[in-house]
This record gives sequence, C-alpha cells and structure tokens, in this order.
Amino acid sequence: MTERLYYTCDDTRGHATITHCTAEPDGRYAVTLESTLFHPQGGGQPSDSGTIGGIPVESVMTRGEEVVHIVAQPLPLGETTQCVDAAVRHLHSRLHSAGHMIGQAGETFGWRPVKAHHWPNEGRITFAAGEGGTLPEAAQLLAIIRQRQNDNLARRIDFNGGLRQVGFGELPGYPCGGTHVARLSELGEVVITQVKMKKGQMVVSYTLEA
Ligand SMILES: [Zn+2]
Repeated sequence: MTERLYYTCDDTRGHATITHCTAEPDGRYAVTLESTLFHPQGGGQPSDSGTIGGIPVESVMTRGEEVVHIVAQPLPLGETTQCVDAAVRHLHSRLHSAGHMIGQAGETFGWRPVKAHHWPNEGRITFAAGEGGTLPEAAQLLAIIRQRQNDNLARRIDFNGGLRQVGFGELPGYPCGGTHVARLSELGEVVITQVKMKKGQMVVSYTLEA
C-alpha cells in the first residue's frame, strides 16, 4: 500500500523509494513508491505532474491500494528523488478549495453538493435539492465565499475512523482525498460563470482569475 504523503503535507520535493517498476501494455512503465508526494487523478482532481529520478511522470492513478506513476522508461528499484510541479499543484489545490467553498455557499441556500469536478477551465459543483432550496444568484454565492476569504480561514484535516475530512475554519469538513490551499487567502479571485438547473439539480460552474 502506497503511503500518500500529500494527505498530510504540502511538500513537493523529497526522497523516494521505488518498490516496483513494471512494463505497461502500451510500452510505458508503471512505477510504485513506498510513499508518494503525487496526487493521482480522482475525486474530481487531475493528477499531479513532475519527475521521479529526473524522469517526467506522465500520469498518476490509483490501482487498488497503490498509487501508480506512469513514465516512459524503466527506473531502477531503490532510492531516488521525487519532485511535483509546484505551480500545477497549487493551481489544482486552489481550484479544489474553491469547489469546497462553492459547496458550502450552496448549502446555505438549502442545496447539498453531490458531485465535484475541479479541473482547470471546467470547474463545476453539482447539488441536489435539500430542504427549501432556492436557486441563488452567482453574486450571492460569491458574497459568502469572499467573506470567508476575508476571514482567511485555515485548512483543517481530520481523520475520523480512517476517513479523511477536509474543512476550512469551523465549517464542517467534506470527506475528501484531494489537495487544498493551507489558507483561503491563497485562493485568489473565484469567478462563477454559470448557475443553472439541470434535471432537478443545481450546477454551479466556476473558474479562477489567473
Ligand atoms: Zn477537497
């Protein structure tokens, strides 16, 4: 089982121990590490990019209990280095954290977030109607988010019975395996591009100012 260092730390550089390197059907190689800094694709978040032993990591995925890093050439087992592209990671963390904030803003209008997609240029949160849900304006959602940004709420990570929960300030956490900013001041300007109803669900599309 790969230890997922990104669950508890924001480091983007460190040592690595390669435990397996096997050929893939497409001619590339799947590398597993004892513990990884790389976030695999999943949970609505794209995979990290970066290098292992100086070799570019082309994609990262979960297979069972392992995190698998796909590279173009075989790597020797044993000690090496791992390096996650910090700029790409920070963008993903900002987008993901903005998604949490939109989820929580939607809840104040009686909606329950059920699906999240935090990819660049296609961010969207899908909500099911809860008790007395009224369709909010984008500006109403943004007012709540900006207040919380002004308060510069800090990230909070809890493990309850092995389940990782991530929240900000005193707001309730969401079960989550992704990466997030340490404080909401890192989020920058959230832009809500659309609030629409689709098959009884509210879909909020969003992006970030560069
Ligand atoms: Zn999250």
